[in-house]
Amino acid sequence: MKFGGTSVGSAERIRQAASIVHEHARSGNDVVVVVSALSKVTDLILSALNSARLGQGKEMEEGLKQLRQRHEQTLGQLCQGESKKALAAEVQATLKRLQEFCSALLLLGSATPQVMDMVLPLGEQMSAHLFTACLKELGARAAFVDSARVLVTDDKFGDASPDLEATRRQCREVIAPMLNQGQIPVVMGYSGATPSGQVTTLGRGGSDSSATILGAAIDAHEVWIWTDVDGVLTADPRVCPDALTLPEITFAEAIELSYYGAKVIHRKAIWPTMERGIPVWIKNSFQPQRPGTKIVESLPPSERAVKAVTAVTEASLVTLTTRRDVHFAEVFGRLFLRLGHEHVDVLFSTQSSSEDSLGLVLRQPDTERVVHAIQRLFRTELKHGVLNPVAVHRDIAVIAVLGSGMKGTCGILGRLFSVVARNNVSVIAVAQGASELNICFAVTASRVDDVVRAVHHEFLSPGRESLAAALVPPRRER
Ligand code: ADP
Ligand code: ASP
Ligand code: MG
Repeated sequence: MKFGGTSVGSAERIRQAASIVHEHARSGNDVVVVVSALSKVTDLILSALNSARLGQGKEMEEGLKQLRQRHEQTLGQLCQGESKKALAAEVQATLKRLQEFCSALLLLGSATPQVMDMVLPLGEQMSAHLFTACLKELGARAAFVDSARVLVTDDKFGDASPDLEATRRQCREVIAPMLNQGQIPVVMGYSGATPSGQVTTLGRGGSDSSATILGAAIDAHEVWIWTDVDGVLTADPRVCPDALTLPEITFAEAIELSYYGAKVIHRKAIWPTMERGIPVWIKNSFQPQRPGTKIVESLPPSERAVKAVTAVTEASLVTLTTRRDVHFAEVFGRLFLRLGHEHVDVLFSTQSSSEDSLGLVLRQPDTERVVHAIQRLFRTELKHGVLNPVAVHRDIAVIAVLGSGMKGTCGILGRLFSVVARNNVSVIAVAQGASELNICFAVTASRVDDVVRAVHHEFLSPGRESLAAALVPPRRER
């Protein structure tokens, strides 16, 4: 069971989450817990680190003060007596470490991704200690587990990938004996370590991945991801308040949804469980009795063509054009190889019919890196005019319309782009996946919410399509 930031955001929330775990353990299940940092804590740590790097000592101290107050308050409300003393010692030690790292960065004025990864998981370190103490207060046998002992990754600091076999071995050594002794392991989410013990993080929002990686490594029967909405919805409820909860989706659909912006599950979280066929539940920790969404291997064909609409709100379009007499395939081939080496995810790409131009739609944070890579890789071609200067179109958003039922259904594209046009929005680029699982298109970022709402209304609002009766209206708790 993984609990996200809002599900452990305060003493009250931790108590609620711990009682969910305790109840399941008491009814005879082995439970392994993975926790995120308290809500907004990773953002706070990151901004304190950045203030330190930039030499802004006052802002850094202010950030550290907020972190201290937040954790001291939570701990004060969570435990009493002897258990409070032990817990306070752990939390204080972590806060001190945080302070020391920040002071060092203030002096150095810079930090490598590896150094950042040593500090960013400290929020999870504190929340895992708080959660363990709370479970013990409830009468459960629980034990804190440092993720560096169990989750083995490569050394891509800031965006590490797991080594499942090595993780499995570590889990056999660390987690299995705890479960055999009737303990509930409480593991820090978000981070792991290389085989030589250097701490790594799995990317922002990566605690979902921690849960699915560990679930796969211990052959869990199910992975439950507890969050602040009722499950996977037909759209982000912050944008579409009338979005509905999907009772079931497939692994393939979940991968597409998360890749194209559905924050409810991390974009790299699905595949470890998918490979082993382990079902994943997304559930609301504020309303644990609600059914949630079950992510499964396959589903019977849906009556509805479109299942969900999602958006990546910060994207860019990078266009590369060659001179017409150039062997473009070789040029573009080299580019894709480089993007692979740089671990860049292209949201979608388009190639013109005359085949001399390539458009890459990228996440905004990747844009500068890709432009620099192109300029380095094609220095000579750019200099001699074989390639035209790279064109970058910023401030765009990508909208993805998803659903396995779109395959073979006529007229979806026509309806979709009529809706976009009725809203007076022009489409900057478009692609339909070969699997026909999604249609992606780019629009100007300022209109993204309007388009998502209009598309949702057209395909997914109650009454517009023959919605399955099982769909239930959602409630957001934040
Ligand atoms: P946690 O802290 O539990 O990991 P996140 O904030 O990472 O939670 O993810 C949950 C949020 O994802 C929800 O509050 C919701 O606003 C957002 N979200 C975006 N798209 C969707 C969607 N299609 N279904 C459900 N939630 C979504
Ligand atoms: N705390 C980390 C973050 O905010 C990981 C997570 O919550 O999933 O990115
Ligand atoms: Mg999350």
